[in-house]
Amino acid sequence: MATEQRKKCSKCEVEKSLLDFSRDRQARDGLRNRCRECMSKIWKDAYKKDPEKWKARVKIWAENNPKNGEEPKKTVSFFCDTG
Ligand SMILES: [Zn+2]
Repeated sequence: MATEQRKKCSKCEVEKSLLDFSRDRQARDGLRNRCRECMSKIWKDAYKKDPEKWKARVKIWAENNPKNGEEPKKTVSFFCDTG
């Protein structure tokens, strides 16, 4: 029974391993609908369009996401409104 759980990316429509999806607490299945690859493209494009907005966001996100791997106390919807 080595059936690996897979999920279809809503953007590129490729079925990928769950490891290819970032976690999203707000999502029903706990994972983003788009794979990491698509998300990184979306982020890059969004950043190019409006770098100042994203710089501010990264700052807020970093403040709420300690690098020691601890769960942030506050959830920030980072990159969630990119479509
Ligand atoms: Zn994808």
